[in-house]
Parts: sequence; structure tokens; C-alpha cells
Amino acid sequence: MFMLKDYSSINVISQNDNARLHLMERVKELSCLYDIARIAADTSLSVDELLAGIVHILPKAWQHSEDACAKIVFDKRIHSTPNYPRFVRRQRSAISINGERRGYIEVVYRKKQGTKNCNPFLEEEQRLLETVAREAAAMIRRRETEQDKLKLENQLRHADRLATIGQLAASVAHELNEPLGHILGFAELVRKCSDLPVQAKADVEKIFDTSLHARDIVKQLLIFSRHACGQKTKADLNKLIRQGLTFLESRCASEGIKIKCSLCPQPLQIDADPAQISQVFVSLMVNAIQAMPRGGTISIRTRKEPDKVSLIIEDTGCGMTQEVLQKIFNPFFTTKEVGIGTGLGLPVVHGIITAHEGLIKIDSQSGIGTKCRIKLPAGRSRA
Ligand code: ADP
Ligand code: MG
Repeated sequence: MFMLKDYSSINVISQNDNARLHLMERVKELSCLYDIARIAADTSLSVDELLAGIVHILPKAWQHSEDACAKIVFDKRIHSTPNYPRFVRRQRSAISINGERRGYIEVVYRKKQGTKNCNPFLEEEQRLLETVAREAAAMIRRRETEQDKLKLENQLRHADRLATIGQLAASVAHELNEPLGHILGFAELVRKCSDLPVQAKADVEKIFDTSLHARDIVKQLLIFSRHACGQKTKADLNKLIRQGLTFLESRCASEGIKIKCSLCPQPLQIDADPAQISQVFVSLMVNAIQAMPRGGTISIRTRKEPDKVSLIIEDTGCGMTQEVLQKIFNPFFTTKEVGIGTGLGLPVVHGIITAHEGLIKIDSQSGIGTKCRIKLPAGRSRA
């Protein structure tokens, strides 16, 4: 009888202990989830700050919290608690977004817990880790969707601004075209006079040249605003590039610039205005050359893609800051000296590519170089 009572009392104590332990673990788990939910609600935090926050919160929910360390690897970026140990038993759960595994979340103990070969982690802890990994993935997905939306809005605003500037540029160009025509016509008449003094002859030549230069700028503005529609014919992009290179090769050689050219072996048919596409190529090449005053390398690549052809021009020049990169398609934006830059090269390139229903993307890193990617619709029929 005594024995029985005693046993039952021991049983009651251990059951109580167990229940208390279980409750304590549940409280830790819930506070961990609560803390994570709190940082998830803070929309001012970046993805990296969120993940660093989770890493900081996580160890407290583990049974031997004073000894636990957490680590998150996401898109090859690592966040971990200090003194993260190697070669220890670990619990891990993958972070997957839209079916793509982009990293993992891991908890380890610094010291061995329990007896040798025994798993120091609880099943509940593995489940908690999986819940946290799912939560983290959901938070990142929400942040990325918001960022994509913001980027799209910025692009639309930029396109809108370009369209407004384009309209303005077109009307200014139209207004200037007529008086310019008169200046050129009258200068031509004066030029033909046989009894002109030498100085006047030289002056009229200057008027003539300057007016031609102004007409060139007006023409560029009209192309930029897409009011000057080119003559589309069947053309081979590779051929246009080879022709363009014949003019540029000697200039590159004299400035210590190496050209690496890897053109697609088949002809790249496009329906385009050959003169305008050549202008695109030359403008991008001239920018690359001007970005490498102490020499460097320009890589030119063309590829055939389904329904598209692509052209990449990459240089190892000075590159651009993010601030400059945001303004490169604005007409008259230039960082070059007066007489060297007009700030019309890239806006015109943009106008031509858009008029050809293509796409242009420019990436650049200050001090490293610039990469221009162009995609154009492939020609519909064989030449
Ligand atoms: P411009 O060459 O007359 O200045 P662009 O429209 O061609 O006008 O280019 C605008 C600006 O973009 C340049 O002044 C320069 O700051 C920057 N840029 C363009 N291409 C490059 C490049 N390949 N490397 C570095 N900066 C570039
Ligand atoms: Mg230029």
C-alpha cells in the first residue's frame, strides 16, 4: 500500500514536471512566433534586416537556448548569430519561394547536448523551424512583390516623362526646321556670289557648317521623338555591325581598346531601317570608347533567340553611378564636356529601338564598366 502510494506520488510529480516543461516550451515557441510576426509587420525593414531579426529571435525558442545558434542563408547572403560553430548536429529547413529553393534556415548547438549519438533536438523544434521558414518565405514574397510594383511604377513614370519630353522636343524641332532651311538656303545663295571678299566667303562657310550641325541635332530630336519614321527593309544585324566596325576599328586601336567580337554564325534577319540601326551601334560604341580614355576592352555579341535577335555591347570603362544611370535617356543629359557630349546619343538610341518595337537595357557599375543589351524582333521572312 505504502509502496503504491509512493509510486503514484512520484508519477504525479514527474507528470507535473513534464506538463510544466511542455508548457514552458510552448510559451517559448509562441513568443518566438509573436516576435517574428512583430518584425514582419514593420514595413520599413528590408529583407536583410528581417532575416537578421529572425536569426536573433530564433535561438530563444530552443530547449537549450543559451547554447543555440541560428543561421539563415538566402540568395547566397548569410545571416547568423555570432561564433557560429562548424561540424555540429543541425536542424534545417529550406526557404522556398514560388517553388524555387532560395536558401535555408538552420539551428545548431555550440556544445554537445545529451548523450553521444542521441538527437539533441525535439520534433516540435523541427516543426517550429519549418513554420518559421514558411513565414520567412511569405514575408520575402510580399516584400519582393511590393518592390516589383514600385519598380514598375517608376518605369511608367520615367516612360511618361520621356514621352512628354519627346513631344516637346518634336515641336521645338519642327519650329526650328523651317528657319534653319531658310538660313541654309540663303547661305547657299550668298556662297554662289562670285565677287565676295575673302573674309565674307570664310564667314558664309561657317554659317553653312553651323547650320548643317544644327540641322543634324534637329534630325536627332525628331528621331528621338519617333516623328521621323525610318525606311524599314530586310537587313542582317551581323552585317550592319561588321560595316560599323570598319569605321571604328582604327580609332579603337589607336586608343588602346581591344575589340572582342562574337557574332552569331547565322545571319540575323531584322525588319529595320539599316541607317538607324547602324546609328544605334555607332552611338553605343562611341560611348564605350569615350568611357575608356586609358584603354580597355569592348565585347560585342549577337545571338538568335526565339522570335528575337539580341545585341550586347559591354565595356570595361569608367561605368556610371546609379544617379547618372537614371538620367541617361533624358535628352541633353551629359556628363561630358561641351563639344564632346550632346546628351542626345542614348535618347536617340532609345527612340530608334522603341520605334522598332525592341527593348534596350543598360546596366553599369561605377569603376567597372557598362553593359548595353538590345533585343529586336526577328525579321518575319527570309531576305
Ligand atoms: P553623350 O555621349 O553625348 O554625353 P549619351 O546620351 O550618349 O550622351 O550619354 C549620356 C551619358 O551617359 C554620358 O554623358 C555618360 O555620362 C553616360 N554614358 C553613356 N554610355 C556610357 C558608357 N558606356 N560608360 C559610361 N558612361 C556612359
Ligand atoms: Mg553618346
